[in-house]
Amino acid sequence: MTHSSLLPQHPLSGTSGLSAGPDAIDAGLLTQLANDLFRDPPPNPAPQLPPSEPGAPTPDYYFLEPAPAAATGSPWNQAPAPFGLDTFQPELVPSLDPAPGPFDVHTVRRDFPILAERIHGKPLVWLDNAATTQKPNAVIDRIAAFYRHENSNIHRAAHDLAARSTDAYEGAREKVRRFLNAPSVQDIVFVRGATEAINLVAQSWGRRFIGPGDEIVITWLEHHSNIVPWQQLAAEKGARLRVAPIDERGEVILEEYEKLLNSRTRLVSLTHVSNALGTINPVKDLTALAHRHGAKVLVDGAQAVSHLQADVQDIDADFYVFSGHKVFGPTGIGVLYGRSEILNATPPWQGGGNMIADVTFERTVYHAAPARFEAGTGNIADAVGLGAALDYLSRLGLENVQRHEHELLVYGTEALSRIPGLRIIGTAREKAGVLSFVLEGHRPEEVGAALNREGIAVRSGHHCAQPALRRFGLEASVRPSLALYNTRSDLDALVAAVQQLQKGHPRY
Ligand code: PMP
Repeated sequence: MTHSSLLPQHPLSGTSGLSAGPDAIDAGLLTQLANDLFRDPPPNPAPQLPPSEPGAPTPDYYFLEPAPAAATGSPWNQAPAPFGLDTFQPELVPSLDPAPGPFDVHTVRRDFPILAERIHGKPLVWLDNAATTQKPNAVIDRIAAFYRHENSNIHRAAHDLAARSTDAYEGAREKVRRFLNAPSVQDIVFVRGATEAINLVAQSWGRRFIGPGDEIVITWLEHHSNIVPWQQLAAEKGARLRVAPIDERGEVILEEYEKLLNSRTRLVSLTHVSNALGTINPVKDLTALAHRHGAKVLVDGAQAVSHLQADVQDIDADFYVFSGHKVFGPTGIGVLYGRSEILNATPPWQGGGNMIADVTFERTVYHAAPARFEAGTGNIADAVGLGAALDYLSRLGLENVQRHEHELLVYGTEALSRIPGLRIIGTAREKAGVLSFVLEGHRPEEVGAALNREGIAVRSGHHCAQPALRRFGLEASVRPSLALYNTRSDLDALVAAVQQLQKGHPRY
């Protein structure tokens, strides 16, 4: 008996249509497969559950009761310890945020073990937060606890560890929902990061809804990951990419932005906070203007979420994306928020396990969002770690963080501006986190290397935002960037090292 005789017969061809290779699939099957690729979601988007025993209580989350540990108070369900202690704090059901206490940066710093490192014999001064943030014990321990106590694949197994890991993963989704104030967990898709989220929207939503002659609007401030996917899409579809200019301060020129919007605008994709200049875009106003023309709006929150409250309902964004590693969470995990109705009208991006409701050789029925965009085994442990990071941040209170960082930004800007030959790049009235500058007579790379010798980590280069820097006639800048654990002494060390370089070194 050959394998082909074991396969189901295709109703149109009379053969399995598969075992003999693609050439054997007839046109009818191909058409059907193609149609099925864009099939609507099933009417009930809930995960497919096996039938329960007659009279058995309906499990309230998946198909398993909560892990027994949840009820018996074993380590993974302890009440959260005060933050800063070396304990992990998994929560199967997210608790309400306690009111944030007073913000003491020195206590906060003790939560981040890496800040005790020494570099070239000097205490580490981490001012490269726009590239990535350091991780508190709450996150490190939570990930370790996941692998120690909960590790399993999720959603599809009749055993306790699958229930624990599923609860932890879906619990993290709920934490993200609360963090963004999204209406529903169905709107939260876990991805690898902001870059993947933007590419997902470009390649699934964009390919379906953007056509020849349509227009996509971005701004001059964008990171390359919010430029290149739209260029690629525009080239593929014969659409047009239009760019809203910025002024000398690094602010989007509103009148120019408005002039770009018209009935052909399908999408506006813009950053919430600029990674190169620190400009906070007035995303709520920019979104309202785009909506007036019927365009959808994607907000790139990669540089915003660690500094300010991002409320997707208040902004009225259609999509909002961010990366876990820039908000004290792990690398390799990020978030795409999308309005449910938009996500469910969007074809999947990747196919495979987890994203399907039903598969036969003839056709596939997809789950609704978020599962339809989470093909295969996701980054379960790091999603849980991201949840712990968001908990940590909400325990500190984003208002406290914002106040602390604003004070540092003002302090650092004043101190740096006093250095002869130093020019701050990006002087927007609303700024967060970033103090980009160039120093006369010294290449940015040279400044970065000199700072590194003092234990000070900054980025120097184009920061993946070449158009933004070129707007200021530059190919590179030095970019110290702030996070909640930075102090005035960090900035004093930075300023002293730059002054030293300026005084002591000959021009190149
Ligand atoms: N957008 C902005 C504004 C960013 O700063 C970054 C990262 N520097 C990204 C998108 C891409 O983030 P990731 O590399 O984590 O995908």
